[in-house]
Amino acid sequence: MIMQIAIIGAGLGGLTLARVLHVHGIDATVYEAEASAAARTQGGQLDIHEIDGQVALAAAGLMEEFRAIIHQGAEATRVLDSSGAVLFDEPDDGTGGRPEVLRGDLRRILVDSLPAETVRWGKKLIGVEPLGDGRHGLTFADGSAAISDLVVGADGAWSKIRPLVSSATPKYVGVTFVETYCYDVDERHPAASAAVGSGAMFAMSPGMGIAAHREAGGVLHAYVEVNRPAEWVDGVSSTDAAAARAYVAAEFAGWATELTSLITAADTAPVARMIHALPNDQRWDRVPGVTLVGDAAHLMPPSGDGANLAMFDGAELGRVIAEYPGDIETALAEYECALFSRSAAVAVEAHETLDRCLGDRAPYGLIELISGGAA
Ligand SMILES: Cc1cc2nc3c(=O)[nH]c(=O)nc-3n(C[C@H](O)[C@H](O)[C@H](O)COP(=O)(O)OP(=O)(O)OC[C@H]3O[C@@H](n4cnc5c(N)ncnc54)[C@H](O)[C@@H]3O)c2cc1C
Repeated sequence: MIMQIAIIGAGLGGLTLARVLHVHGIDATVYEAEASAAARTQGGQLDIHEIDGQVALAAAGLMEEFRAIIHQGAEATRVLDSSGAVLFDEPDDGTGGRPEVLRGDLRRILVDSLPAETVRWGKKLIGVEPLGDGRHGLTFADGSAAISDLVVGADGAWSKIRPLVSSATPKYVGVTFVETYCYDVDERHPAASAAVGSGAMFAMSPGMGIAAHREAGGVLHAYVEVNRPAEWVDGVSSTDAAAARAYVAAEFAGWATELTSLITAADTAPVARMIHALPNDQRWDRVPGVTLVGDAAHLMPPSGDGANLAMFDGAELGRVIAEYPGDIETALAEYECALFSRSAAVAVEAHETLDRCLGDRAPYGLIELISGGAA
């Protein structure tokens, strides 16, 4: 009998799992809440690491497609102070080993590599019921239903599958990232464009900072990072974009205008992303017929690792399922044993990275991290 593998969520983790299973000749169905691949701009540039993201893409047989979407020159990194003075500047000399790609491009090559019908769009999971023997009944918001022999929660921070294995819920870490975009930057935002340079720019100080990436197509994508209580976010949620910009910019009084213009002159309304995390040592006892990948398993503060880890989880889970045909529980036990130690270590580092960016030693702690030495 063919095993019914249901993957909830067509993010990078779920899609990588589906692709690696497909490479091994194993079918799976990915149920995704969004209506189509184009339903939401995926936004954001990701650096794909040699030790995990690229390993996953190799397992997925997609290295050639990956190389074709790399944003050349984008690995440059600089750190500024609040006056705009450059404290650290590392050009992209092609040896960084962390190529930058747009998340949407990465998702597209994964979706395109799967047989049609593998991803079922517009399938928002609203219920999951254990049926015994590791099987689960799945119900979707459109009224449809399915039964799985294995259900994989690849449904991100607010996973509907996680409660099957764990009572842990994400907690706000006290930091909010406010996202803005500037377009056509060399023409329309030349001062901000020059401040950011060709890659990533971090202007950090204790408790607040502005990070921005130059993305392909003349785009500056900024995360304005602040240590603030949850209530602070209400001021960003204003329907009046100008008021929201002024509210966020007020935090940065006295900062160089080429940096604050990433807020005040942004082409998009500011969007607040409250940063939540699961406990660093998040783990669970083996539950038949269910497991998690990516943020569903180990949500942590953004440190440049989350998407890479999600892809690696997906690739590893696909590999062990193929390695133990007919013995899914052994496969899941092996996968989870490695998952728990891997993700706990990265989660600790993620909190440390956030502290280097916004803690008392900012920005020098960050410079130490990037340069691998004392600043
Ligand atoms: C501000 C910010 C910046 C970040 N920057 C980086 C970075 O530079 N580099 C990096 O590596 N990581 C970064 N991350 C982390 C990264 O975005 C995540 O770790 C990664 O996206 C996790 O992938 P995933 O596949 O587990 O989940 P997700 O990307 O969240 O995908 C989950 C999918 O499941 C779907 N879904 C959710 N609920 C349901 C449901 N009920 N039914 C069906 N489908 C559902 C969603 O629509 C989505 O498509 C950042 C995170 C944040 C918040």
